[in-house]
Parts: sequence; structure tokens; C-alpha cells
Amino acid sequence: MTAADALARHLKTLDGQSYRAYQSLRGEYSFPGFQLHVDHVQGDPFAALSQVRVWVDGAIAQFPADLLTTATRRMAVADFVVRQFHHQAQQWRRSQGSGKSGLIEIARPSQAVLVRSACTVSAAGIELRVAVGLPAFGRRIAGHQAAELLCQQLPMLVERSAEYKNLAAAALRHQVEVVEDAEAMRSQLRERGLVAFVADGSVLPRRSGVDDRPLQEDAAVRFESPESLRVGLTCPNRGSVTGMGIPQGITVIVGGGYHGKSTLLRAIERGVYPHIPGDGREAVVTDPAAVKVRAEDGRSVVGVDISPFINHLPQGKSTRHFSTPNASGSTSQAANIMEALEAGARVLLVDEDTSATNFMIRDRRMQALIAKTREPITPFIDKVRQLYEEHGVSTILVMGGSGDYFDVADTVIALDSYRPEAVTEQAKAVAQRYNTERLAEGGDRFDLLTPRRILPQGIDPSRGRKAVNLKVRSTDEIRFGEEEIDLSAVEQIVEPGQIRAIARALVYLQTHYLDGQRSLPEVLDAVMDDLAQAGLDCLDDRLSGNLVQFRPLELAAALNRLRTLQVAPV
Ligand code: ADP
Ligand code: MG
Repeated sequence: MTAADALARHLKTLDGQSYRAYQSLRGEYSFPGFQLHVDHVQGDPFAALSQVRVWVDGAIAQFPADLLTTATRRMAVADFVVRQFHHQAQQWRRSQGSGKSGLIEIARPSQAVLVRSACTVSAAGIELRVAVGLPAFGRRIAGHQAAELLCQQLPMLVERSAEYKNLAAAALRHQVEVVEDAEAMRSQLRERGLVAFVADGSVLPRRSGVDDRPLQEDAAVRFESPESLRVGLTCPNRGSVTGMGIPQGITVIVGGGYHGKSTLLRAIERGVYPHIPGDGREAVVTDPAAVKVRAEDGRSVVGVDISPFINHLPQGKSTRHFSTPNASGSTSQAANIMEALEAGARVLLVDEDTSATNFMIRDRRMQALIAKTREPITPFIDKVRQLYEEHGVSTILVMGGSGDYFDVADTVIALDSYRPEAVTEQAKAVAQRYNTERLAEGGDRFDLLTPRRILPQGIDPSRGRKAVNLKVRSTDEIRFGEEEIDLSAVEQIVEPGQIRAIARALVYLQTHYLDGQRSLPEVLDAVMDDLAQAGLDCLDDRLSGNLVQFRPLELAAALNRLRTLQVAPV
């Protein structure tokens, strides 16, 4: 292994040479506080950044052993280190020279605490994966700047983010405790008969549609549970936490426009992940298999059984193996639900704002004017109870526009100026007094989707002479081979790294598990098992610093949106 000062000398001798000479950097270097691995060297100053790995031995990092005893704690510590590194790197950002010269980057973390390939922590030590822009002027190596970047700036950032003595110890411990408490609360939901929990005092509104940080303290009304829905969960660190428990079954959130309904539902959507202290949603937890489903017209649907919701399409098109390159609002929402169920969803989250009206309701008058024989759609209102009673799948629904849902609700929550009230009894009384006279439609059973096998020929990541062509744009699009997968309607993806990992996982499942025999859930299980065993690195043959843990539900969502997908019945 080359010593750090030898690296510095070597970089200076490269000064003025052509950029290609940087390729000689690949290798391992021993620094006073860590080891540096240069894994990938960019081809020119404008290309994707060079990738380096830093290993800080446990004896130097010196994290207290009790912060590293469980996977949850290690995740929380790694997340803290990533944030620290990111913050420091932002402050020291100085780009000199051409292209991406002088950049040091670690992927920007969201408000969620997630497992990321950018940093792993154990008692043995800490590994950081960092992208750097090797400096140049034009296409000539800037050797002195490179020496400063790798031998001064990088060590300083590593020291400040990965050595315990330089971290805010109380803040780190607090983060570990908050994350551990959230995981503990989430794991209590099922046994307590709950699908979600929103702690008293939570701050749900966000700063803006593009800024996921909490709305400023004085502007936000803190959450306060209605008395009748208040429950206490026990946390290992904070002790008992009280808040609103949303029971299994059908919950309808009502209230006037602008009174905070969608904000509450969005917080519940994100409750599948733990959040950093100060986020406001640290103690909002949701069943890990909760899925936001919405209308998504224009998406492609391949071989999905949407017959519980859609039947007798014009021209006799089958809905048991329904395919279209261009779904309507209602068929896309039906497909989204059936696919989510296939992928293991236990809770559906639905907002009227993003739903197709004709999918949600069909009132008595419309039933009288348009006979059922002329309406392919069975609205969700006629299926939501069957889903729960036959399959144990709960629904939380925001619905300010139709009281018809009072008939099928177990729990009704009204928001009034952001304050929740339990109004189930009042809603039931209203339902008795004003009978909707609706006729139930769509039969009295809910048949789950006929299982689908995934055919290997439908998944092709190649493009031209490139065997694997993947590109990812923010959190809503994958370029996969020649195709684009639009994930903008998959709302529980919070970091671009999740999409990157999902894109890799598509390639991975294609090479490992597509024998044409396995059903979609079997393929998902196989991939998630491998991930649990071997970590995110199993997805890529190159060690990548920007993969982030995802749920099988979002992997399924990507697969289902691939326009070339081919399936066959099992
Ligand atoms: P609805 O879905 O009922 O129409 P939204 O959830 O979209 O309402 O909220 C309307 C506005 O109120 C949004 O700008 C949101 O950020 C803000 N808001 C929501 N909840 C709160 C709260 N607890 N405190 C302050 N502002 C809030
Ligand atoms: Mg709304």
C-alpha cells in the first residue's frame, strides 16, 4: 500500500500531464487516519466523478460500542456520518479548474434515515464512499490541486465526519435513540391493531412542495390526537409516547379544503421510514407495507387482473389479463391497487386529490341514469370493505367530497384548521339520516389477482452496444436500456439513490431470477432476500456509493411500469 505522502508527491509529478495519466491512481493508499481506495478514475474532467472509498478503522473512529449493537443503530449512526460529511463537503466546496475539478460529493440525504451504500458502520470501522472530481485545467492534470484535494481536504472531511471525537456526541446519540424508537413503535402497530400512529406534538406540514423540511415552528399547528383515538406506544428510549392510532379497517379523513387532510396522509405515507430528529415526523409511523395508490393516466399496464374494479370494457376487452400502453385514470388506479396487493401491500393510502372520481364513487343518480351493464367500473367504495374483510387489507382515505364513504368507514377523522377530531359516530348518524340509496355493485367477493410469471425477454437493459444502459433522473425516472420508466406517481420514493438501486435491482433480477417460471412475488422475495443477506453491494459489480435501500413495493412499481414487460399467467 502506498503511503499518503507518496501519493501527494506522485500527484505533483502528474501536474501538466494529460488527464489520462490520472488512471495510474487506481489502488490503495495508507493515510494516518484511514485507508483510501481509488476504485474508479474518471476519463476526463467533465465525465462522471471518480469514486473513492475510505476505510476508518474502529480503533480510530472510536464510536461507543453501545451505538453499534443493532442494525437499526448502525443505520442511524451511518446516516449521521453521511449528513455530517455532506454538510462539511458543501461548506468546503471549491471548484477550481475545468469541468467537475475539485468537487467532493456524497449523495445528499433526504429527511428519512435509510441504509445507504455511501456509508456503512460497524465495530470494525467505518466505510465512506465519496465521489471526487480530479482537478484539471483544460484537459491537463492540475497536480498540486489534486494533492490538496486528496491529501488535505479529503482527510479533513473524513476526520470531521467519521471520528467520534469530532462529532456532536449528544446529537448523534439522540438520532440513534429517535430512530430506534420509531422502529420500535412501527413494530408495535400490528399487535396493537393499528396501521399508523401520529404522535402528539408532531409537525406534519412541510416548508414547500419542493422542500421537505418542516414548516417553521411558529407557522405550524402541532398535531394533537382526538381523545378517543389516543393510544400510547412504548419506546425503548423515550418511554411512552401518546398520539393518534389509526386502527385497521377503513379510515376516512374528511374536512374542508385546505384544512390539512392531504398533509396528514402524506406524513402517514412517509411513516414507512424513520426520520431525523427535528423533522417533525420522527414519531409518525406507518405499517411498513402501506402503499400510496393514485390515478396515473397514460401509464402502461401489462397483464394485470383488474376485474374486481373494471369489467365489460367496450369491444369485449378482457380485464383478467388487462394490458394497455395508455391507461385511463380509473384503469390506472385499479391496476395500481391490484399490483400493490400482488407485491404485498397491507394498507392502501388514497387521496381524493390524486384519484379518478369515477373510480372512487358512483352515486344513486348516476346509477339510475347509466345502468351497471353500461358502466365497466365498479367504484372503490363497493370494494374497500371486501378488501379488508376477505384479505385483511386496510385503507386510509382522504375524502372531503363525498359522504357516501361514511357507510363503509370504521373510523372517520375530521380535520378542522389542522386539528383532528374523531367523528365516526356523527358520520354514522348522518349516514342513517340521509340514506344514499346506492345499490352495491360488483358482486360480493374480491378475487385477488391471478398470479403473473415474468418473462425474461421483456426486460432488456441493453442499448446499442452497451449491455447495461441505466440512467436515473432525480426521484422520478429511470432510463432502462431503450426504455424510460416513469416513477413520478410512485410517491414513497424519497431519494434518487433508491431509484438507482431499483434500476440496478431490475438488472439483477433479470440476470439472476428470470427463468420465465417465477411469479412476480417470488422474484421480489428472491431479490429482497439477497439484499438482506448481502447488502446493496450485491446489486452492482462496481462498488457504488449511491445506492439506497428501497422496499419491494417500489421495485414492483418500477417493474410494472416498464413498457416492454411481458407476463404470462402462472
Ligand atoms: P387539504 O388536503 O385538506 O385541502 P392540505 O393538507 O393540502 O389541505 O393543506 C393545506 C395547506 O395547509 C398546505 O399549505 C399545508 O402545508 C398547510 N398545513 C397543513 N397542515 C398544517 C398544520 N398542521 N399547520 C400549519 N399548516 C398546515
Ligand atoms: Mg388535499
